Amino acid sequence: MTEPVSSLSAASPIMHEVSRQIYPASALYVLATPIGNAGDVTLRGLQVLSMVDAVACEDTRNTAQLLTRYGLSKTLIAAHQHNEREVAEKLIARLQAGERIALVSDAGTPAISDPGARIVDAVLQAGLRVIPVPGASAVVTALSASGLGDDRFYFYGFLPAKAKQRETALTGLRTLPATLVFYEAPHRIVETTDALAAIFEPDRQIVFARELTKLFEQIHRCALKDAAAWLTADANRQRGEFVILLEGASAVADADDAEAERILAILLAECPVSQAAALAAQITGQKKNALYERALKMKAR
Ligand code: SAM
Repeated sequence: MTEPVSSLSAASPIMHEVSRQIYPASALYVLATPIGNAGDVTLRGLQVLSMVDAVACEDTRNTAQLLTRYGLSKTLIAAHQHNEREVAEKLIARLQAGERIALVSDAGTPAISDPGARIVDAVLQAGLRVIPVPGASAVVTALSASGLGDDRFYFYGFLPAKAKQRETALTGLRTLPATLVFYEAPHRIVETTDALAAIFEPDRQIVFARELTKLFEQIHRCALKDAAAWLTADANRQRGEFVILLEGASAVADADDAEAERILAILLAECPVSQAAALAAQITGQKKNALYERALKMKAR
């Protein structure tokens, strides 16, 4: 997209339709930007960017570059996680004076694992309008191409970096019947995958959605038990930006698991792990190996 927005709007019927919508003054426009490919900006996003008085953004250099790609130049106001409260006051004063202001983050949708929520809250509390201008977000982009869970998903965002806190967080998600979605940094991707494998069933499907919409986009799906080997087979697979999706617990499997754990707990109090697994396999009809693994984990808890 090299053409300036103004010529696009003059030329195309769709831009005519976009520009006919009412864009009230004294409003904050929460505007999604691309997560990789600059072509993923929306026509309405361009329209709003072209008409606002200022853009509040996470990093003024990044946003200046983005705007330049669309042939735009705007007053930029830094609004990052360390100054959200103070900047909210500044933005409110400008909005009260009748300005339109766009709120953007470095990539994707503001306030989704990004700054923005506090500003939106303050603007709403000041009785001013907040208007969403939707577009890309890595969570929805990854989910749409994952083939996992067509009804429910649980977006966690970034897991805690500390092992103990991460384990507690993951344990709390073990029985949730919804696709689990995490954001992760490349330097933690292997560690996080190991943590998932230690807590969730080995046959759950996992999806690594890497570098979405970019040149080296890769979406890989496999069983959780095979994930670490896939990641470490090629260092390139650990590079870039990641969304991790994990198949949710199935309600039936949960009930079976709970029953197997109950039986194993009784047997483990009386006999060694291998014998407990063998007896539990006879009682439940489940595979002895899986029960053995489960019994080992139960012992370790
Ligand atoms: N607000 C953004 C959104 O709506 O998706 C998310 C911002 S968060 C600070 C950045 C994280 O989002 C990355 O660490 C990564 O987990 C994920 N992400 C962003 N862009 C991505 C992409 N192109 N491919 C895969 N994951 C991406």
